[in-house]
Amino acid sequence: MTYDYDLIVIGAGSGGVRAARIAATHGARVAVVEKAALGGTCVNVGCVPKKLFTYAADFHAAFDDAKGYGWDVETPRFDWAILRDNKTREIERLNGIYAGLLERAGVTLIRGEAQFSGPHDIAIGEETITGERVLVAVGGTPRERAFPGAEHCFVSDQAFYLDALPSSIAIIGGGYVAVEFAHIYAGLGLDVHLIYRGPRILKDFDHDLSAFLTAEMKKQGVTFHLDSDVAEFTPGTLILTNGNTLPVQGCMLAIGRVPLTDRLALDKAGVETNAFRQIPVNETYQTNIPHIYAIGDVTPREADLTPVAIAEGHFLADHLFGKGDGRDAPDLSTLPTAIFSSPPIGTAGLSEQAARDQGYAVQVFKTDFKPMKHTLSGRDERTMMKLVVDTKTDRVLGLHMCGADTPEMLQGFAVALSMGATKADFDRTIPIHPTSAEELVTLR
Ligand code: FAD
Ligand code: NDP
Repeated sequence: MTYDYDLIVIGAGSGGVRAARIAATHGARVAVVEKAALGGTCVNVGCVPKKLFTYAADFHAAFDDAKGYGWDVETPRFDWAILRDNKTREIERLNGIYAGLLERAGVTLIRGEAQFSGPHDIAIGEETITGERVLVAVGGTPRERAFPGAEHCFVSDQAFYLDALPSSIAIIGGGYVAVEFAHIYAGLGLDVHLIYRGPRILKDFDHDLSAFLTAEMKKQGVTFHLDSDVAEFTPGTLILTNGNTLPVQGCMLAIGRVPLTDRLALDKAGVETNAFRQIPVNETYQTNIPHIYAIGDVTPREADLTPVAIAEGHFLADHLFGKGDGRDAPDLSTLPTAIFSSPPIGTAGLSEQAARDQGYAVQVFKTDFKPMKHTLSGRDERTMMKLVVDTKTDRVLGLHMCGADTPEMLQGFAVALSMGATKADFDRTIPIHPTSAEELVTLR
């Protein structure tokens, strides 16, 4: 049986583009099908526009900081339309770069929504193409929820294109998106209420980290409503399940994401999904149907992050079409991740509670200090750092930071953790002075 392509990739997001490009450079005949803009969630409605908005929000406090250093700053004024439209132009530039990357690699790009019409057959409208192998890399979409007035709320995809910003906002959720947008909106001058159904935001992060960030965000005026949920919303009034009302003009739902598997007709190929509509895979990203693979956010794992999807795509392309000298499957045991809040979080490895749950006897080293910059700026912001160390082997199991620049600091330390660095290795390292990062190698 001959097929049109050696590999059909469904979805030109973080994982799909990397898999398609690398497979093509190994000589495979590859088609990628994309129904929306190239680059997927990260480029269009995720990491990139979010980080641009974060920079915009960070200016707010920076203007105030400058006064303590002698700068006379006129009252700054923010224009949402300028930020939104400059961001959109940058995203469109990146879309073009992605198109060029695929073209130069020799990948055939097919625009439209893909559906299985058989085990090797992919229908895009009237057209059907066949692939010896198929890779599903369709990612997810923001979860929505029904309650009175939910139609007046928006999700992260829409947050990047709002006509105007409301003066006040409630954000429902306590995960990455809720926390990052709470910072963005507070920085852009909105009155922000964060409503989370549990007792602690970022519940899977180290508990000291989430408590520290909550305290810092409160100082910036974010109001937390924990163990709480939205019952009803009309612009101007949000009613909580405990009966309290909040006078907020806008409401954003940041309650997680659902995989985009519903419209793929996976049953036509016999591909199984789990109760969360994700596609389970084995250690080489194979689904229950051996020639069909899945990577990225559509698969069940605790790390819906762009670099993870990219690493999976790269590994898979090498594994299927490489010459045996490819990458290993990504090791997520010391996965670094950041939250672009204010101050931001940088964290890698096990939280203290996860380490204890896994049976480690741990020693914990912590510090909490005022960064030198804020001695003159007058900003009431602190930095916290924490190491979780295995008492038996001295190995650093987890590193948790909340403070200015911690995501940038973390990348290098993540290399050390992935190499199995011990506390003694940290202690032996000469600090760089004066920095915040030096605290990590002087913790006693
Ligand atoms: P995606 O990037 O979602 O790509 C899937 C693609 O498939 C999409 O282009 C979609 O249109 C297409 N598609 C879906 N169905 C079909 C179909 N039937 N036919 C054709 N095409 C289809 N991660 C980080 O690492 N750092 C961050 O700072 C960060 N910030 C984020 C901020 C936000 C607001 C959000 C929502 C996410 C963020 N993420 C971040 C997560 C990151 O965006 C995802 O983990 C990553 O994009 C997943 O890549 P993927 O390849 O699995 O899917
Ligand atoms: P998360 O899974 O991080 O958080 C979802 C939040 O919504 C949780 O607090 C969850 O509560 C809550 N929730 C879930 N369902 C409901 C519901 N029905 N009603 C009320 N609350 C609910 O998802 P996000 O959407 O914030 O982000 C998606 C993923 O994208 C992240 O997990 C992360 O992997 C990635 N991302 C990464 C970023 C980065 O790298 N900086 C930034 C943004 C996103 P509970 O915990 O109680 O279940």
